[in-house]
Amino acid sequence: MQEARPRGLTAGLDPAAAGAEIHELARRLMPIPRSLTGDGVRETLRIVGELVPLAVTEVPTGTPVFDWTAPREWNVAEAWIADASGRRIVDWRESNLRLLGYSRPVRERLKGAELDERLYSLPDRIPYRTAYWADTWGFCVTEEERRAIRPDEEYEVCIDARLEDGHLTYAEALLPGESEEEVLLSTYVCHPSLANDNVSGIALLAVLGARLVERRLHRSHRLLFSPGTLGPLAWLSRSLERLDRIRGGMVVACVGDPGPLRYKRSRGGDTAVDRAAAYVLRGRPGSLVEDFVPWGGDERQFCSPGFDLPVGALTRTPHGLFPEYHSSADDLDLITAESLGDSLAATLEILDVLEGDRTYVSRNPYGEPQLGRRGLYREVSSGAPREEESFQRAILWVLNLADGGHSLLDVAERADLPFGVVADAAAALLDADLLEERP
Ligand code: ZN
Repeated sequence: MQEARPRGLTAGLDPAAAGAEIHELARRLMPIPRSLTGDGVRETLRIVGELVPLAVTEVPTGTPVFDWTAPREWNVAEAWIADASGRRIVDWRESNLRLLGYSRPVRERLKGAELDERLYSLPDRIPYRTAYWADTWGFCVTEEERRAIRPDEEYEVCIDARLEDGHLTYAEALLPGESEEEVLLSTYVCHPSLANDNVSGIALLAVLGARLVERRLHRSHRLLFSPGTLGPLAWLSRSLERLDRIRGGMVVACVGDPGPLRYKRSRGGDTAVDRAAAYVLRGRPGSLVEDFVPWGGDERQFCSPGFDLPVGALTRTPHGLFPEYHSSADDLDLITAESLGDSLAATLEILDVLEGDRTYVSRNPYGEPQLGRRGLYREVSSGAPREEESFQRAILWVLNLADGGHSLLDVAERADLPFGVVADAAAALLDADLLEERP
């Protein structure tokens, strides 16, 4: 009987405990100096690899990646600004947001007025800025710190960084199922110390991967951890012959803030994952389901016309729409164990629907079969009358819609019943030989 049941990825899930685990992992990942390339990405992947078996790919600098080229690798040893007395007024060691990402190496003395041209600032917080494709350097400060720079005073600047031929690093975990068909989950690993807009997604997918490793899966599940834009493109360029296996997927990011869950549909808009996500979020009041637009996160690579993969995006408050976005205010206080646990539960529920959705044909379509004789109709309910009633209704709905033209998700939507109850009813009917799967 167990064999026919859906694997139930959410079975036994304690969202509060899982959320605390994700938050703890996010705390560990937070200080690592990630960027588009470099040892911070590798260290992040090493920690994720403690939870889920990863295959790491190193793409050499200069490798063509569709219309792009793998960039030079960037690593920082130290970076600071000192005033005339030698006191370090800005130090990368205190926060890796301090340095403009991909700054070239610099060691020089300059006047405050010249230094000011190299500064990026926000009120009360340090901004996060990068210059991947420009040959430049700069520092990020609060506006208060910027105002304290005296134009005529001399300052010393040190950026001890290496910007040289190396690699762009990404990693994937393939968790095999019975089928070679794949579900793809992707997140980026290129932001430094930002909590919601980065470590929340990495930590959630790592914990999710650890859970999937322990389950029997129908489809194979692939988790991709890669630097934004170029990472997915590099992975896509090396996976072209496998892409037709992808049956659905999501980019998972910004999943820790207290805002409502938000699902952005794939380019197709009505693929299996779009329907599964919309169904799961319908059960979470306040959640949002939005149409595809060609900006946002890495879904725009997976959904570019040459690939047109069925990949949506699951977030809470997405890029750019929360006030702490891309600044030092996006810290560990912005993400909560409660939100992270809820995001994990929703992700697993969506995967559960993708795993369990099947279309059946009734072997007894002429009138209702005798359920009592088969132990499928219980006149006296046990301890949980409401669940029992749902199950009974699910039995009748599944039988009625077992015409080969309706899947279990169609049944769950139409009956307004939890997908798990519908899947359990179908499993019981299969065991009673009343259904067969549509070939
Ligand atoms: Zn971002």
